[in-house]
Amino acid sequence: MVEQTNPNSIVGNLQLVFLGPPGSGKGTQARLLAAEYGFRHISTGVILRGEIKAGTPIGREAKKYIEGGRLAPDHVVRILAENAIKAENNKRYILDGYPRTVQQAIWLSEFMNSQKSSLTAVINFEINSEEVVSRLSQRRIHSVTGENFHLSNKPPPEEQAEFIITRPDDQPSAIRKRLKIYDQQTRPLVDFYSSKNLLVPVSASGSFSDVTAEIRRVLHLP
Ligand code: AMP
Repeated sequence: MVEQTNPNSIVGNLQLVFLGPPGSGKGTQARLLAAEYGFRHISTGVILRGEIKAGTPIGREAKKYIEGGRLAPDHVVRILAENAIKAENNKRYILDGYPRTVQQAIWLSEFMNSQKSSLTAVINFEINSEEVVSRLSQRRIHSVTGENFHLSNKPPPEEQAEFIITRPDDQPSAIRKRLKIYDQQTRPLVDFYSSKNLLVPVSASGSFSDVTAEIRRVLHLP
């Protein structure tokens, strides 16, 4: 009998950051790899949308920024991210959408040092902005599960139509603003992590499965 190999036993502790513009597919890839290898997928966007939905004080503070396509304040996101990492016991996770500013990256590094831990790699999703706009304007999400769909490539199930929504920050004016903010506030992290020899570029404009295969290859995942 051929013994089944459990991928979880092969992959040791990995602390990853997925960096890239909105619409680069980092969230979808993070979700898939997290499920397959038993990582925790820590998305500050998902956490913030949860806070908004629950009407918490953090959610109320963050709502106006998120829906307008701006970044939530650094100090708000910092607490959410650090709590999520602590809950994971610093072991195996993908940070998706955190950090997004140099200040957040400095805090993350200080926080990880204090936990005697460090980042394994930062995967940089490279894609041009025209493709991003086209992807985001066709993106829909399930309002209960948070699953992403794409009108042409991955149409949402018709029987769930009442739950399928366009994110307010995927409206064209908000998309343009988010891309500008990405260039101004998040793109500097490419140099930040490159200078620390942590940056691993991945071409994110290919098909979903090509991008998954490339991430597996660069991370030596089985
Ligand atoms: P995402 O789901 O990653 O696209 O995030 C959705 C929105 O949540 C972003 O456009 C920001 O408004 C907010 N957000 C998520 N992560 C961060 C972060 N690290 N810093 C500031 N704002 C964030």
